[in-house]
Amino acid sequence: MTDPVFSYEFFPPRTQLGERRFWRTVGRLEAQDAAFFSITYGALGSAQPQSVETVEYAAKECETPIAAHLTFEGSTIEEINAVAMQYRDAGVDRIVALRGDARAESEAAKKRGACYQSVPEFIDGLLQIHPFDISVACYPHVHPKAKDLQTDLRVLKEKFDAGANRAISQFFFDPDDYQRFRDHAATAGISAPIVAGVLPIRDFASMVSFAEKCGTRVPKSLVEQFEPIANDSDALAKASQQQLDTFIDKLIDNDCRHFHIYTLNQMVNIRRCNLKQSVDDSLPVSLSA
Ligand SMILES: Cc1cc2nc3c(=O)[nH]c(=O)nc-3n(C[C@H](O)[C@H](O)[C@H](O)COP(=O)(O)OP(=O)(O)OC[C@H]3O[C@@H](n4cnc5c(N)ncnc54)[C@H](O)[C@@H]3O)c2cc1C
Repeated sequence: MTDPVFSYEFFPPRTQLGERRFWRTVGRLEAQDAAFFSITYGALGSAQPQSVETVEYAAKECETPIAAHLTFEGSTIEEINAVAMQYRDAGVDRIVALRGDARAESEAAKKRGACYQSVPEFIDGLLQIHPFDISVACYPHVHPKAKDLQTDLRVLKEKFDAGANRAISQFFFDPDDYQRFRDHAATAGISAPIVAGVLPIRDFASMVSFAEKCGTRVPKSLVEQFEPIANDSDALAKASQQQLDTFIDKLIDNDCRHFHIYTLNQMVNIRRCNLKQSVDDSLPVSLSA
């Protein structure tokens, strides 16, 4: 039994100012002994080559292990395997293996050569390149394009059967949703770790619109609390920290032992409020006191 572990997600910075913020946040979070830092691939409008550059540089500069996100949609097998090999050669042992949303580019990719068709197939290809530690995505509120929860769970089980080590969830705000999703996963035969994806609230309106796109439900209580203070930065920061503390405490009570923080490249303060026993001792302890 160990304390909970924390991993932190970043996107590749696009401007000089963004780069300063990225490295400042990475530097401060390095002091907190994180399980890993993950770096997105082509998400939030960033270009994929920026991801590769950032991953390679971070792998060289950071003490914390780097997990590189990789999406196969829009690339041929040869192209995406080449990036995975580049990561392997740069000492990156962890991959977050994803489909991605580059549907427009996928037709063009199919004309260039054979493409992966599913995440399990992609995992199989990655594991032939290197014994990567593989994380995958899961969706407590069901993926917006999935037929239903059962389809989502079947696909998730196939990802674990193909060799994934853990699933990182889309962000959500009701701690009971974690419990419910883990119970459904257990019924579907999934016993591997489900990591809670946590999005600290910064800009409430942007968060709500992002949540709509991702299919994440925003509880009415959160809207009632945050809407009136959306333009008061001090009140927002205070409420956001309180929400984060309470959310993590409740998840710990629900036996969640790995939290993946969507940092959006900004500093996050995790407070040790209510730590209990852990069930996942496969990863190093990481938490700021
Ligand atoms: C932790 C995390 C990290 C992410 N990082 C990135 C990133 O770095 N870069 C990036 O571009 N995106 C990223 N994403 C977004 C992700 O690429 C999208 O959610 C994508 O649509 C699905 O990827 P997947 O790997 O979950 O796919 P899958 O496992 O194939 O799909 C998940 C579920 O959605 C269903 N589904 C997906 N697409 C369709 C469709 N077209 N029609 C019907 N059903 C469908 C599947 O059947 C399955 O049930 C991330 C998401 C998460 C949760």
